[in-house]
Amino acid sequence: RTVAVQFFLNMAEEGFDVVVVGSCMTDLVSQAPRLPKAGETIHGHKFFIGFGGKGANQCIQASRLGAKTAMVCKVGKDFFGDNYIQNFKNNGVSTEFVGQTDKAATGAASIIVNDAGENAIVIVAGANMLLGYEDLQRAWPALGGTKVLICQLEISPDTSLQALRSARERQVKTIFNPAPAIPDLHPDFYPLSDVFCCNEPEAELLTGVAVGSVDDAGKVGAELLQRGCGSVIVTLGPQGCVVLSSQDPVPRHVATTPVTTLDTTGAGDSFIGALAFYMAHYPTMPLEEMARRANQVATVSVQGVGTQTSYPSRKDMPQELF
Ligand code: AMP
Repeated sequence: RTVAVQFFLNMAEEGFDVVVVGSCMTDLVSQAPRLPKAGETIHGHKFFIGFGGKGANQCIQASRLGAKTAMVCKVGKDFFGDNYIQNFKNNGVSTEFVGQTDKAATGAASIIVNDAGENAIVIVAGANMLLGYEDLQRAWPALGGTKVLICQLEISPDTSLQALRSARERQVKTIFNPAPAIPDLHPDFYPLSDVFCCNEPEAELLTGVAVGSVDDAGKVGAELLQRGCGSVIVTLGPQGCVVLSSQDPVPRHVATTPVTTLDTTGAGDSFIGALAFYMAHYPTMPLEEMARRANQVATVSVQGVGTQTSYPSRKDMPQELF
């Protein structure tokens, strides 16, 4: 091999398929017969700790399908932070850009679920909000050759915007997931999104148009496309998703397989992680086909309990998806 060929082979090896700039949260889940009133203490019957946070969920799904992934995030210098870093390692995610701070605790979601399946949740974003420009600057030199970058809104929106801008400057493909949705989203988020992927309530909040059907999803998708996105995917739970793009602005409904659902928590993140995997591995595949395959992955996730615990690996999926 010539020196030049070796150099390019090394570059190819060093690049990540998928980099996520986003959140990590520890879920503290208590199951109780009902939700307690103010000032009241009640007995619950089950407690468990889960790994969550939209950014981390998406990264772990992409990694389980075989993407070479890195997470850019911030956790606390505490037990939950140490534990989360180990969780990334167990799932093959590079932790080179996971910072630990003593200025805030690892993001946590205290969740109470009653017997009717309703919940009450308090989220403390903590260390997630301290992920900033310096952290991105530190990470970028090592991120040359990255294929796809994903951002959400569980960290400071400014940090997400800066990450998307840097990705665009470096010709890295971007997926933006405006979740949790905010009504006054900065207009630059749209043109910086190669793929803008949201669910029905998020699309509704951003456009002011109610989404109750596949047709409505097509309409809000068209409105979001108008704002400058390269393409738009609106996910529709059991109805799969609607896909449209600037090259092909006619909304296409991509249905998924009907299944018996056990727990839909984190299904949207499974979809986005899978989408990122396909964008990185099959860059010329039509977006509609990537969405069809991402539907299949997310649909597996709703048939298992928990968030990351229900995400399939490559070996669990039919091989024709790869
Ligand atoms: P959502 O965030 O609820 O729109 O769901 C994201 C993706 O997960 C959907 O596009 C589907 O691929 C999958 N999904 C969610 N809920 C279900 C369900 N009840 N049955 C089958 N697939 C689902």
